[in-house]
Amino acid sequence: MNYYFDVFKIRKDFPFFINNPDIIYLDSAATSHKPSIVIEKEKEFYEKYNCNVHRTSGSFSLKVEEMCENSRKTIANFLNCDESEIFFTYSATYGINYIAYFLCINEYLGNDDEVIITEMEHHANLLPFLNLSKIFGFKVKVWKMNEKLELDIEELQKIISDKTKLLAVTHMSNVLGVVNDIENIVKICKDRGLMVLVDGAQGIVHNHVDLKKWDLDFYVFSAHKLYGPLGLGVVYVNKKHSKKKKPAFSGGSIISYVSLDKITYLDSPYFFEPGTQAFAQIFAFKYAIEYLKNLNLEKVKMYEIGLTKYLLEKLKELDFVEIYGNYEEVNDKRFAIVPFNVVNLHSHDVSFVLDRFNVLIRVGHHCAQLIHHKLGIPGSCRVSIAFYNTKEDIDKFIEALKQVKFLISKN
Ligand code: PMP
Repeated sequence: MNYYFDVFKIRKDFPFFINNPDIIYLDSAATSHKPSIVIEKEKEFYEKYNCNVHRTSGSFSLKVEEMCENSRKTIANFLNCDESEIFFTYSATYGINYIAYFLCINEYLGNDDEVIITEMEHHANLLPFLNLSKIFGFKVKVWKMNEKLELDIEELQKIISDKTKLLAVTHMSNVLGVVNDIENIVKICKDRGLMVLVDGAQGIVHNHVDLKKWDLDFYVFSAHKLYGPLGLGVVYVNKKHSKKKKPAFSGGSIISYVSLDKITYLDSPYFFEPGTQAFAQIFAFKYAIEYLKNLNLEKVKMYEIGLTKYLLEKLKELDFVEIYGNYEEVNDKRFAIVPFNVVNLHSHDVSFVLDRFNVLIRVGHHCAQLIHHKLGIPGSCRVSIAFYNTKEDIDKFIEALKQVKFLISKN
């Protein structure tokens, strides 16, 4: 199959690269850049349509409502689920917090129950459960990684008990690049009667998602990592959880009737969307998804895997670099995100030097301290790749990395 990918043409769609031709951006796992169509559409919203939805029946309001419902339709199509199963919030973090609290106040989780989280989680999919466990009395268990820094299904089978109600697991690690086998994980959990919440913040950026096929319970991500606007989170709630429940957060727009002793809620997804929504961002996000689909998801993935292979080859040539995780082979089970350290140097010192050469990467613990505890290190450097990166970006990064050697000699 021909995976030719005209990355130089693609880069012209991204104003960030036009305005910053000297910047080597290898930090897309933190946030991605936006194609001009997304930026233009957000601007267009404020310039042409700006008004609130569900407040009036005026034609402007109805138009904005229709535009946002079109976006919801595009997103539902992309994920292969029903429109009513998608609700908008402000980020993946807010989405996971919503679901965690929703499960507690609706008594899915309580005293004597267990929730399994994994050692691979971003704090966004860990802290809500740790915090709420102290209030609602459930126990949090950890699915540990093996020596290859992967999650073994056998280990999951062992730690599930009759009390386990939920598994909260990441689709793709934001530190290790590991892609978890969600389909298989969900099958096991369903057999054992567990709900599954998947943190898709990184996974959706690089992998095909099919929610009808997986039939999991909750899938959450942020638009800004998927080439869309900041300030927008998307939550999938399997329709089996949306009927006649208590909303985790409430306010305007989610009810059909209120008196002091009776409240009638709207159906999903509106039930989950109190208050004024991020209409401009919702509207613009549709164009990010269409842009990505036009590039062809499979081509994007093969290109990113190829670039990760090139990065690994070059990185392994440097004897002062330690790479973490099982990067013997690069394939669709682990790619796009590579953690490493320069021996005897703090990751912040590495980024300081790289920054002088206009190379942007992420350093620190990446909000995933359990992984770093397992590795016995305080932090790491992380290179993350998107389809707009080039081999030249990697070459410049490697050349800049060689410059940190003088710091090691001073240590
Ligand atoms: N989960 C993972 C795996 C992530 O990488 C991130 C972002 N770093 C989040 C959750 C949280 O995303 P946000 O900051 O957009 O809420």
